[in-house]
Amino acid sequence: MIMRLALGLMIMLPASLAVANAEGTGAHRPMAPRSLHVVGDDNYPPYLFRNDDGEVEGYLVDLWRLWERKTGVPVTLTATNWAEAQRMIADGRADLIDMIYRTPQREPLYEFSAPYADLPVVIYTHTTIGGISGVSTLKGFQIGVQSGDACIHQLANHGITTIVEYPNYTALLAAAGRHEIKLFCLDEYPANFYFYKTHTQGDFRKAFELYQGQFRRATRKGDTATLTRVEEGMRLILPEEDAALRKKWFGTPLDIGVYGRYIGWGLLVAAGAALLLAALSMALRRQVAHKTQTLNAALAELREAHAATSEAEQSLAATLQAIPDMLFEFDTGGHYVNVFASRDDLLVASPAKLIGKHLTEVMPGQAAQTVIDAINAAATRGHDYGRMVRLSLGDGAEHWFELSATRKQTGGGETRVLVLSRDITERREAEQAILAAKEAALVADSNRHFRALFEAAPVALAYCQGERIESINQRFIELFGYRPADIPTLAEWWLQAYPDPDYRQQVLQTWDAAIARAAAGDGRLEGLEYCVTCKGAEKRNMIIGGQLLGDGFIATFTDITLIRETEATLKLAKEAADAANMAKSSFLANMSHEIRTPMNAILGYTRSLRRGSLPPEQVDRLDKIEDAGHHLLAVINDILDISKIEAGKLVLEHTGFHLGSIIDYVRSLIAEAAEAKGLELSVDYDEVPLYLIGDPTRLRQGLLNFASNAVKFTSTGRVALRTRLEAWEGEHVRVRFEVEDTGIGIEPGQVQDLFQAFRQVDASTTRKYGGTGLGLAITQRLARLMGGDAGVDSTPGAGSRFWFTARLEVGIAPAEDKPAETSSTEAQIHSLHAGKRILLVEDDPVNQEVAIELLSETGLEIELAGNGRIALDKASNSAYALILMDMQMPEMGGLEATRLIRELPAHRLTPIIAMTANAFDEDKERCLAAGMNDFVAKPVEPERLFTTLARWLGRPR
Ligand code: ADP
Repeated sequence: MIMRLALGLMIMLPASLAVANAEGTGAHRPMAPRSLHVVGDDNYPPYLFRNDDGEVEGYLVDLWRLWERKTGVPVTLTATNWAEAQRMIADGRADLIDMIYRTPQREPLYEFSAPYADLPVVIYTHTTIGGISGVSTLKGFQIGVQSGDACIHQLANHGITTIVEYPNYTALLAAAGRHEIKLFCLDEYPANFYFYKTHTQGDFRKAFELYQGQFRRATRKGDTATLTRVEEGMRLILPEEDAALRKKWFGTPLDIGVYGRYIGWGLLVAAGAALLLAALSMALRRQVAHKTQTLNAALAELREAHAATSEAEQSLAATLQAIPDMLFEFDTGGHYVNVFASRDDLLVASPAKLIGKHLTEVMPGQAAQTVIDAINAAATRGHDYGRMVRLSLGDGAEHWFELSATRKQTGGGETRVLVLSRDITERREAEQAILAAKEAALVADSNRHFRALFEAAPVALAYCQGERIESINQRFIELFGYRPADIPTLAEWWLQAYPDPDYRQQVLQTWDAAIARAAAGDGRLEGLEYCVTCKGAEKRNMIIGGQLLGDGFIATFTDITLIRETEATLKLAKEAADAANMAKSSFLANMSHEIRTPMNAILGYTRSLRRGSLPPEQVDRLDKIEDAGHHLLAVINDILDISKIEAGKLVLEHTGFHLGSIIDYVRSLIAEAAEAKGLELSVDYDEVPLYLIGDPTRLRQGLLNFASNAVKFTSTGRVALRTRLEAWEGEHVRVRFEVEDTGIGIEPGQVQDLFQAFRQVDASTTRKYGGTGLGLAITQRLARLMGGDAGVDSTPGAGSRFWFTARLEVGIAPAEDKPAETSSTEAQIHSLHAGKRILLVEDDPVNQEVAIELLSETGLEIELAGNGRIALDKASNSAYALILMDMQMPEMGGLEATRLIRELPAHRLTPIIAMTANAFDEDKERCLAAGMNDFVAKPVEPERLFTTLARWLGRPR
């Protein structure tokens, strides 16, 4: 309920004129208000209160009426409850509030006048409570206060927050009367008034004075003009006018007229006694005066201290007001004890709501914990700086606060922590902005580097983001001819680079799969080959790979067109070379076949002629025919050997042999010629192991080559065959074969060339000694194939020492395998197998005849088949003890015939022996692979044929 008191004295003059008149001063003063609305507490007797009829009266009613009269400014005085009065100032419904104490918390809200009255504020207790003697004894009690009362701040400053608010003093005292509260805080003057009025003086007692309040007047913050005008108005009130009002409301002297008579008599009676007491009184007065003096001095000191304290408090309040930081006092448990903040909007709640609360009740967990950490750190170490707290405040914005905490001790010995909290939101934002700018600069910088690198790269590069081709570098443009405008998107690229729809489909599939693999792995796009069509329709073979980057990728293009073209050319060249090689090989095979076939006839007939009894000169001619035949055969063998070696087709045997057999064989072959020339022939084995594993045929061939040359080029003296152990190499030995002669020797300058194919010392050699110039070349190549080499030391006119080395495995002695005597083999066949039927498969009539002639003495029954087909027919119907099979025949060759015969159940085990002019190693292998059991080359050596026949006919089936 708000009671508006319209003061009666309405001056009709304009307010400014009225004030000007009263003051008699000039127009330099601030404009006076046209009217003034004053508010105050309606239950503060005798200043302002309601009487029993509910009417407002009191000292201030009279004072403001006087002020109105003095200034001519109409005054509306509203007396209402104290909290409402403060709200009215806050929201502009009133201009001035009266009877207000100055507190730090109120500084931001009001402009205060000078104090005009000192007022004790007191803590009262119910008479049933004892021991309340100071603020520290209030802990744990509920203290009753009037809402909006300054004592709330005072109590909070002492850490007392257990406060119960009431709308006015009447309600507060009623609650105290009901024992709802046992303690309460009241200004002493109104308290006494109400105790008296409600007859409750005996129920309560004054416990102690909390502090001295000072009444002031105040306007809204910033409204100093009104305050100044009000103060000026107050100064217009004369001291005697104010004294009269004070006398009316604070103290009227008693009217003693009624009681005078009685007092007069009393005084007379007492006069005598007074005289008696005078002396005693004098002494006492002196004592009292002395005490009073001491007390006054103490009081003066106290006042001084109080003034200093209040000045310090005020400067602290002003300081806190001036700085934007907030100051909090906490107990070590994390409860708010005190809050000083110039801006409430930076607090999570109003100071009144914070005090007494625990941090965790008012702040989010993380922020509360940070403050608790700061409190703990300061409580232990004395101080703590630099922690930061992030809070979302009422304005919805996020704020950052930096904390500085320090420890303090209270008068009562308690530890407290002061925490200064500074809003650093703006500073932080600025820092963040600087950081972001720095980062952006770095990114820009690295982008620039990347761009330069991208452009300068010698490889074509494209950078794609999503479906867009963001950049292509210079090399890309040079390579493909496409410019950025031609291929703004990947879709364009696919269309232009792969115009053939089928190939494009295939490329897209491959590319998508590569992207998927890269995404699943480390982002690296593996390089795959694509055929890209350039802008000018030219095609290029490219390896395209790259690296995924976010939702894009960098593609790298490596041009392999030249490599592919070179490969194609090389492939063609190789095919041509292979074809030429094939032609050469088949020519050689043909030539060999063609020469061997007639040679078989020549040597066969020579042999058969020799069987008859001939005159000596014819025997001599047969010898010559035979020598010529063998020579021709040797020549053709050399030619085949060298061409095979050079084609890399010569395969060495790996078989056990006796070293002696090689030397003996060579020795036996040259012995006759050496003897004919009167040359001494010697053999020396050194300490070479005799049983070795390697290719005895090729060793024999090399040694024979050297030995026959030695005999050929030596007319007198000797020829020595030697083997030397050069070194042991694990399971192997390195063996040196030497042939030394005392022949013509060789000029040093010619030695190098001798080992080249077709080279002889000079052309005259051919005329004088014959030869093809192939022997040394073959020997050296064979030696190298066997892991060694060949060479010669020679002195012209004194002789030569030819040597070659070979790396051979050391073997063990084989089971005795004595070569059978030639004549006895043929006889053996006769005695053991005569009458057995063999099938001779041969198309050439002359060779048929030669073979039949050769076998005539074996007693075997020979049936002829002119080609493979006839042989197959015959084999289907008959059994044979053995089949001799030519290879090259019309209608059906020997290989095919063999395969088919082998399918006949009767001939699965029949020995089939090749007898063919196809004398190469691979021919032999093909025969064995087709199912034949052995191989005899044409021209046929009778001994070899007989041995082979004897072995296979005698083998149990
Ligand atoms: P051919 O003996 O068939 O001509 P070779 O390759 O065996 O072929 O020999 C090449 C040449 O080396 C011979 O023609 C000859 O001039 C020379 N030569 C080989 N052996 C001797 C030797 N023991 N004494 C002197 N000269 C030799």
